[in-house]
Amino acid sequence: MVGIRIADPYRYVTLASGREIGCYTLLVATGVAYRTLAVPGLDRLTDRGVYYGAAMTEASACEGKQVFVVGGANSAGQAALYFADYAKQVSILVRGESLEASMSSYLLQEIELRDNIAVQTQTEVVGCFGEENLERLCLRESSTGTERSVEASALFIFIGAAPKTQWLPETIARDQAGFVLTGSDVKAHGWSLDRDPFPLESSVPGIFVAGDVRAASIKRVACATGDGAVAVSLIHQYLRAVR
Ligand SMILES: Cc1cc2nc3c(=O)[nH]c(=O)nc-3n(C[C@H](O)[C@H](O)[C@H](O)COP(=O)(O)OP(=O)(O)OC[C@H]3O[C@@H](n4cnc5c(N)ncnc54)[C@H](O)[C@@H]3O)c2cc1C
Repeated sequence: MVGIRIADPYRYVTLASGREIGCYTLLVATGVAYRTLAVPGLDRLTDRGVYYGAAMTEASACEGKQVFVVGGANSAGQAALYFADYAKQVSILVRGESLEASMSSYLLQEIELRDNIAVQTQTEVVGCFGEENLERLCLRESSTGTERSVEASALFIFIGAAPKTQWLPETIARDQAGFVLTGSDVKAHGWSLDRDPFPLESSVPGIFVAGDVRAASIKRVACATGDGAVAVSLIHQYLRAVR
């Protein structure tokens, strides 16, 4: 899908071929694009010790092991605290000089209290090594240029994600990061009808949103599938009202 055109009561989805499909209502569930780390060896070991986001299912496999978390925002801090319950040692790797500017103070305080979490500032991953699974990382300290090889069982990467919303028209309101607003959040964004918006309805009536692309959604499979199921029910209610 490359675009949406509104001509009440119809919504037209434009396909990459240029063809349009008309409908009364549609559900946007285009997810997010995770930013990736360009490091030699990393692609080959992704999902084999290297993970984008918090792969909670991997926690038990981290029992007694060395775990690394890349990123300085709250998601990285929350993951480090979670994996610290299982791992022997969790190292948070950040390129900047400190975490203070990017992470909430409550997380910083909790991290400070944990003996098995270390914060390594001005440090980046420059190599990933392992036969079947991740075994070692090469880390570089940016202040000195010194490189060292460390044992690593898991590397969790939290360097951000961008919603796939560039193809949506301006009339579909989004938050500052580009995630689509829904429900009561759209009332201050050009909502024109007398009725309230449905919970997963965007600022354009009849266009519903589910999953990671939705502002304030929990970026997990269970949330995305739950949204999808709820959206189907809401779409039936919407269609009963407009037809
Ligand atoms: C590496 C990794 C590990 C994860 N591990 C876990 C985990 O362990 N547990 C967990 O609960 N969650 C995990 N997540 C998060 C989980 O994958 C997402 O929350 C979930 O997939 C969101 O579902 P979604 O349907 O919103 O989006 P997606 O699953 O991203 O699906 C969006 C779909 O829309 C398609 N699309 C995008 N743009 C367009 C367009 N313009 N036209 C047509 N199609 C389009 C995409 O190709 C894609 O198929 C992980 C995510 C990543 C990246």
